[in-house]
This record gives sequence, structure tokens and C-alpha cells, in this order.
Amino acid sequence: MDMLHIPVDALTTLVRDVFVAAGCDDAEAGRIATHLVGANLAGHDSHGVVRVPRYVEWLEAGHVVKGQTAEVITDGGCFAVLDGKWGFGQTVAPQAVALGIARAQEHGVCVTALRNAGHIGRVGDYAEQAIAAGLISIHFVNVAGSVLVAPFGGVERRFSTNPVSIGVPLPGKPLVLDFATSLVAEGKVLVASSGGKKLPEGALIEPDGRLSTDPHTLYGPYDAIGPRNPANGKGAIRAFGEHKGSGLAFMCEMLAGCLTAGGTSGPVGERGRIANGMLSVFISPRHFGTQAEFERMGLAYAEWISACRPADPAQPVLLPGEPEEQRRAERTRNGVPLPQDAWASILATATRLGVRSPV
Ligand code: NAD
Repeated sequence: MDMLHIPVDALTTLVRDVFVAAGCDDAEAGRIATHLVGANLAGHDSHGVVRVPRYVEWLEAGHVVKGQTAEVITDGGCFAVLDGKWGFGQTVAPQAVALGIARAQEHGVCVTALRNAGHIGRVGDYAEQAIAAGLISIHFVNVAGSVLVAPFGGVERRFSTNPVSIGVPLPGKPLVLDFATSLVAEGKVLVASSGGKKLPEGALIEPDGRLSTDPHTLYGPYDAIGPRNPANGKGAIRAFGEHKGSGLAFMCEMLAGCLTAGGTSGPVGERGRIANGMLSVFISPRHFGTQAEFERMGLAYAEWISACRPADPAQPVLLPGEPEEQRRAERTRNGVPLPQDAWASILATATRLGVRSPV
């Protein structure tokens, strides 16, 4: 498959211009562009610029609202409930995280419960926001109104892809664990359907229980270029890690869907629009009085793990966040690789909005 390599600045400018043309102000359009391109740089193409056409459609359909500010519904000092009011996730999630950071720096810990956020994208971004402030953070995310994933032992959709992220700020070695609780993120099925990386064995399941790697299982029939709608498919993505991943996905619904009061993936099924809920815990090691030990022990332990003899000498053992760090360095140099179909879909959206590509 031929990949185009788009320089980072040109891609960021194009995406920003698309969202300005779609009606966002410069700051919001810039945030969305930086976030999406940042996901590509981290190697998570599923949450990168491939999402542009869908985000624009959601804005045009009123499923997501430009220029929103997350509203604090409950303020308990070291905890808060915030309503994103269907604003862009790249706007309202950083606002909730900024509040969590400020309060954890005051109290030592803070729990924020964000609901009704538009798609917040790569959750690791928010763990990185906390790391930059010297905080540990834990994020449980659900997707209200989106059913895509079959629970362990089932063949029907019940969960969404419910990601979890944990960020740990070791000096010079930021650690970011960030993954979907589905065997693959939905965006990876999207990327595979646009000529990108193929899905791993057993990623999807047909209604009769047969395992599949064919994106049509999720999207039903679709054209090479153009939107994909999971509502048109009959199959499901599988939860990762058998009963354990399935249980974690279930708990994301409890924490990010029920406790935030934003709602779960069902049972009403697809509602036409989706919203992320995110329960975040922020922890300040400085307040715990163990900052020095935390850093010393953390770095020594990380080093010991890295020194583990690899099964394949060409594949050293990596820490959470290291694959993203490596890809970021490589892609910043060489540009963001995009399959032709994905690039054509972005350009089609840009052209429709009267935006010319700088490349
Ligand atoms: P993934 O399967 O690529 O796993 C990524 C995690 O595993 C990272 O923490 C990475 O550092 C670590 N990792 C990867 N390879 C490793 C190795 N060889 N050794 C050690 N650690 C390794 O991620 P995914 O499940 O495909 O998720 C992709 C992205 O999708 C995430 O950023 C997630 O936040 C995002 N997502 C968002 C939503 C949403 O609703 N907003 C939903 C689902 C997923």
C-alpha cells in the first residue's frame, strides 16, 4: 500500500483551516488540529487526521457544538463534576483536566467527572497534560450512545471501545499507558477500511460467532472514499484480554458513564450522536511526601524492566509511552504517513469547504 508522507506543519495548517472554514474560531481549530496531528505523530493514526471528515459532519449535523466551555455542575474542592455540553472534546476535556490539575496542586488529589464531551480523541494527551504539571493521573473513558464491542462470551454489541490511560511523571521518563479496552480501537477499523494497517486476527466477531478481520463486519457496505457508519454493520469488535478486558470496559461505563451521569453505551443503542465521559484522578506525589522516593524507585524500576532480556533481540522491552515517543521523533522528521484513501477523504472535505491544501 502506497503511503503519502505529509509534513507536520502543512498537515496541521490544513486541518486548522478546515475547522476555521467549518465555523470554529482560530484557537479551537488550532487545538483540534494539534490534537489530531499529535495522535498521528504518536503513531495512533486511528485517532488522527483520518477523523477530520467525521468531525466536520458532526459539527454540521449539530452533534458537536463549537466554542463551548465545560460547566462546573458540582464543586467539592478536591472533586468536581463538569458538563462538556457537547463541545469539541479537544476544547472541553483540556478544560476539565486543567481544573483537575489546579485542584490537585492545591489539595494533593482531585477527581473530575466530565460528561457530554464531544470525541476527546487520544486520551494519552490528557495524561501528558498532567505529567507536564508533575502529576500522576488515571483516566477512565466511556462513549455514551455508541455500542461497538461485544462483552466476553457475547456476540452482540454492548460496550464502546472505552479507553483507559495512566500517566506517571518520572523525571526525563514520562510514562503513558493509553489503550482502548477493545481488541482494537474503532479508528483502527476505520484506518483498515481506508487501505491502512490490517486488523489483527480475531479483532471482530460476526453475529454467528465467527471471528473476522474484515472491516465490513463493523461497517457493512461502504465506498472506498467517504464516510463509514458502524450502524450499518452487524458484527462487533471484541473486548481485549478475555474476561479481564471485558470487565475493565464494563467498569469504564460505571465510572465514566454512570458516576458522571453522562450515560452509558446503551441500552437505548445508537443515538445519532456520541459523547465521551471521562472520570479522571489526579495525584500529586509532592503532597504525598514521597516525591523523592517515588522518582528514585520509579526510575530504578523502569530501568530494570527495560533491561529485561527480550525474546527477540531485535525487539527490546519497552515501557508504556516509549513506542509513542519513538514514533513521534521519527514522524516529526519524515512527515505523517497517510494512506491515499484517507488523504483523499480529507481533501474532499477541505475542497467542499473551499480550503486549499498547502501540499
Ligand atoms: P494500542 O493497542 O496501540 O496500545 C497503546 C499502549 O500500549 C500505549 O500505552 C503504548 O505505549 C503501549 N505499548 C504499545 N506497544 C508496546 C510495546 N511493544 N511494549 C510496551 N508497551 C507498548 O492502543 P489502542 O488500544 O489502539 O488505542 C489507541 C488510541 O485510541 C489511544 O490513544 C486511546 O486513548 C484512543 N481511544 C480513544 C477513544 C475515545 O473515545 N476517545 C476510544 C478508544 C480509543
